[in-house]
Amino acid sequence: MGKVTGFMEFERLEEDYKPVAARLKNYEEFVLGLDESRAKIQAARCMDCGTPFCNNGCPVNNIIPDFNDLVYRGDWRSAAEVLHSTNNFPEFTGRICPAPCEAACTLNVNDGAVGIKSIEHAIIDRAWAEGWVQPVSPTGKTGKKVAVIGSGPAGMAAAQQLARAGHDVTLFEKNDRIGGLLRYGIPDFKLDKSHIDRRAAQLQKEGVTIRTGVLVGRMPPPEAGSRVINWSRETISAEQVQNDFDALLLAGGAEQSRDLPVPGRELDGVHFAMEYLPQQNKVNAGDKLKAEGIRQIRADGKHVIVIGGGDTGSDCVGTSRRQGATSVTQFEVMPRPPIEEDRPMTWPYWPLKLRTSSSHEEGCSREFAISTKEFVGDKGKVSGVRTVRVEWQEGKMLELPGSEQVLKADLVLLAMGFVKPVASVLEAFGIEKDARGNARASTEVTGGYATSVNKVFAAGDMRRGQSLVVWAIREGRQAARAIDEFLMGTTLLPR
Ligand SMILES: Cc1cc2nc3c(=O)[nH]c(=O)nc-3n(C[C@H](O)[C@H](O)[C@H](O)COP(=O)(O)OP(=O)(O)OC[C@H]3O[C@@H](n4cnc5c(N)ncnc54)[C@H](O)[C@@H]3O)c2cc1C
Ligand code: SF4
Repeated sequence: MGKVTGFMEFERLEEDYKPVAARLKNYEEFVLGLDESRAKIQAARCMDCGTPFCNNGCPVNNIIPDFNDLVYRGDWRSAAEVLHSTNNFPEFTGRICPAPCEAACTLNVNDGAVGIKSIEHAIIDRAWAEGWVQPVSPTGKTGKKVAVIGSGPAGMAAAQQLARAGHDVTLFEKNDRIGGLLRYGIPDFKLDKSHIDRRAAQLQKEGVTIRTGVLVGRMPPPEAGSRVINWSRETISAEQVQNDFDALLLAGGAEQSRDLPVPGRELDGVHFAMEYLPQQNKVNAGDKLKAEGIRQIRADGKHVIVIGGGDTGSDCVGTSRRQGATSVTQFEVMPRPPIEEDRPMTWPYWPLKLRTSSSHEEGCSREFAISTKEFVGDKGKVSGVRTVRVEWQEGKMLELPGSEQVLKADLVLLAMGFVKPVASVLEAFGIEKDARGNARASTEVTGGYATSVNKVFAAGDMRRGQSLVVWAIREGRQAARAIDEFLMGTTLLPR
C-alpha cells in the first residue's frame, strides 16, 4: 500500500483540460495528463483494499492496487509491466474508458474515487516516452495460421496475443487503416490516431500481417440501405479464409446503426453519426475526400440536431462544434437523470447519473424526454425536426398532448446506438446468431468464444453487441486464449 493515511490527507485530483476556446480551434487531444508528482499524490490515496472492488469492476481486471503502489513508490517501469499484464493497449483505455473501476472503488462510497484512469494514462504515456514499450517475440513458432477479421480493439488485442503465442496471424480490415471505431468512430480530440499507428507498428514487428482494404465475407448491397462504411478494394470469400487458415476470429464489431424511420428520413442532411464522424477523422489524417469521391458532411454555419444522448452523440457534438456549427442541440428520449447517484444504493456498480462530457462543455443545448416525430424538409433538404415531449410510466413512453414543436435543423445526426453486426458477414460464414443478431458464442472457460461453425470464433461487439473498448480488449484476449487452446490442446495465454 502506498501511503497509509493518503486517502485522508489528499483529495482526488482531476486531469486538466486545455480551455474550450483553444481546443475548439483544432482536433488535437486536450486532456493534460498528471505529472509525476500529481500522479504520486493520486496513487497515495489508494487504500489497497483487501477486496479490491476496482479490480473486479474493471473488465480487463487491471491489477490496480499494485500499480497504484508502484507509482507511489516511483517504480514506473514495474507499474507499466503490471498494467500490460492485463491490458494490451492502456493508452486507449487511459484516454477513453468511462472507468467502471472508479465507480467500483471503495473510496467512491462516500468520497472521490481514486483517479485510476489518470494513473493508467500517466503510466502508459511515460512507458512510451521512456522506450519501455517494445515488441515481444514469441519463444517459438507453432506453424498454425490464424485469420483475425476486423481490426478494432478486439481484433488488435487478439492478434497481439496470438502472435505472441507463436501463431502466424493475419489481421484483415475492410477499411483503409486499422483500429475499428478507435480509428473511424472516436474523434481525434479524444484519441489521437498516432496511438493506433504505434501499436500497428508493434504488431507488425511481432509478426502480425496486416491486410487493410480487404473485406472478408459479404456486405449488403447499397440498395439495402445499411450505410455501413466499407472502403475495401478487395473481397475474400468466407470459404477462402476457412480453407487458408487453421482458425478464424470474427471481430467485425456491431456496425449496423439504429435508424429512425419517421417521415422525412430520406431528406438530404439526415445522416447516421457513423456516416459523419469517420469523414472528419479521414480529413485529419490528410486524406482528400473529394479525390475519393466523398462529399463531406459538414456542420459549418448549420443548426445541428444530434439525436441520441450517449458517447457517439457527444462525439458528434464536439465535431460539429469544431467545424463551426451555429447551434448544436442534443436529444435524449429518456428523462434527465439525477446529478448525483444514490451511492450506497448503486456502489460498486455503474450508476445512472447525469454525465456531462467535455464536448457538452464546449457548447450544446441538451433536451431530455423528447421524441422525434418527423424530419421537416424544404426542396429535399432537412430544415427542421418535429418533436413531442414524452413521459415514462412503467417502462412505457407516453407523448404529452400539445407539446409538439418544430426545431430548426440543417443537419441531423442519428446517434442512437448500434443494433447488431452486419448480418451478411455472419451469414457468409453460416454461423448461428443470438436473439439480438450477434454472433452466438459463450464466454465459458472451456469452449468459450467458439461459434456454431468449426474453427470460427467471435469476440468484441460482434459477439456481445455494442459495448466499450475495454470490453473489446478483454474479449480479444480471452478469445485468443480459446483459439490457442483449440489449436494446441493447451495454452499459457492469460484469460
Ligand atoms: C462514435 C463512437 C464513440 C465511442 N466512444 C467510446 C468511448 O469513448 N469509450 C469506449 O470505451 N467505447 C466507445 N465506443 C465503443 C467502442 O468504440 C466499441 O465498443 C469498440 O470499438 C468495439 O470494438 P470491436 O473491436 O469489437 O469492434 P470495432 O471497433 O467496431 O471494429 C470492427 C472492425 O472490423 C471491421 N470489419 C467488419 N466486418 C469486416 C469484414 N467482413 N472484413 C474485414 N473487416 C471487417 C470494421 O471495418 C471495423 O474496423 C464508441 C463507439 C462509437 C461509435
Ligand atoms: S477500490 Fe479504490 S482504494 Fe481500494 S484498492 Fe481499488 S483503487 Fe485502491
